[in-house]
Amino acid sequence: MQPTTIARRDVTEHDVQIEILFCGICHSDLHTVRDEWAAYMPTVYPCTPGHEILGRVTKVGSAVSKFKAGDIAAVGCMVDSDGTCKECKAGLEQFCPNTTYTYNSPDKHLGGVTYGGYSESVVVDERFVLRVPGNLDHAGAAPLLCAGITTYSPMHHWGVGKGKKVGVVGIGGLGHMGVKFAHALGAHTVVFTTSSHKVDDAMRLGADEVVISRDANQMAKHAGSFDFILNTVSAHHDINAYINLLARDGNITLVGAPEKPLHVAAFPLIGARRSLSGSPIGGIAETQEMLDFCGKHNLTSDVEVIPIQKVNEAYERLLKSDVKYRFSIDMASLKAE
Ligand code: NAP
Ligand code: ZN
Repeated sequence: MQPTTIARRDVTEHDVQIEILFCGICHSDLHTVRDEWAAYMPTVYPCTPGHEILGRVTKVGSAVSKFKAGDIAAVGCMVDSDGTCKECKAGLEQFCPNTTYTYNSPDKHLGGVTYGGYSESVVVDERFVLRVPGNLDHAGAAPLLCAGITTYSPMHHWGVGKGKKVGVVGIGGLGHMGVKFAHALGAHTVVFTTSSHKVDDAMRLGADEVVISRDANQMAKHAGSFDFILNTVSAHHDINAYINLLARDGNITLVGAPEKPLHVAAFPLIGARRSLSGSPIGGIAETQEMLDFCGKHNLTSDVEVIPIQKVNEAYERLLKSDVKYRFSIDMASLKAE
């Protein structure tokens, strides 16, 4: 990646213009930059990634009521949807067939594709701009806009809470938020990691137990016992090992989106009426609910704040699962370019 110049539209009636203060680095940014999702969402170059955006409102359109200049506001993975389909009407914009993603998506206003948050500013329809509780640290709150909602939404859907045994696979940006949410929701929380050096952190983040997933004996002890497992792994792995850990009627939800298909054995699913599903981000109303939940529980992401000049190095480290636990780019550093 290298510096470039992108255009932003002028503020129209319903728009909010935001000076970006922090933008998280999601593994989806890395998949996109490397065109690893070519089969589903081919990358249009040049590409400006970034969908964990937090900033200060600098200008609003004449019809905007939710925001005024000076407010702290945030934008996640979506900047528009058709607003008329049954998904939008249900507040589930993430399932709208005409969603405009924050980057690498056809831009209705300027043509070409949308450009993301590794940038100075952004202009977004107020329906897709979120309020940020005042007590949250800005650098740590930015990642809530993707890593936060993507882990919060399926946990809500699958009834994570007191009396449930919940697993979180992979302690990266998504996984570490998953642990915080499962713990805050009162579940017995078990972390699965390939990285033995993350064990102490996993306990600090809220895990009740930590399993080194490469150790078959440790895995076997949990066979047939989980109500729900959230799988955040970004690379190819054996998912059957986790399906076997589910109790009868247990569910494992994929939020991780590896480049290549995973192989699923039928028998572990059939044998205990287990289910495997997936989940994309969350709707706008639920994203606001998640931010308010984080405000109430004072939850933010554990971040390593970096200047934009270190973005390529950060991607190399992300590939090695070497981040504690989200990179958050301090956008003031762009001015040094
Ligand atoms: P990340 O910070 O890189 O974390 C991924 C974690 O997966 C790593 O920290 C590592 O945890 C584990 N892992 C990596 N390679 C592995 C391997 N070969 N075998 C087993 N475990 C491995 O990434 P992220 O930003 O959290 O994103 C995770 C995935 O979710 C990505 O594929 C991303 O595109 C996807 N995603 C999906 C959505 C959605 O809407 N569904 C939203 C955002 C992101 P340990 O070191 O603990 O093992
Ligand atoms: Zn993301």
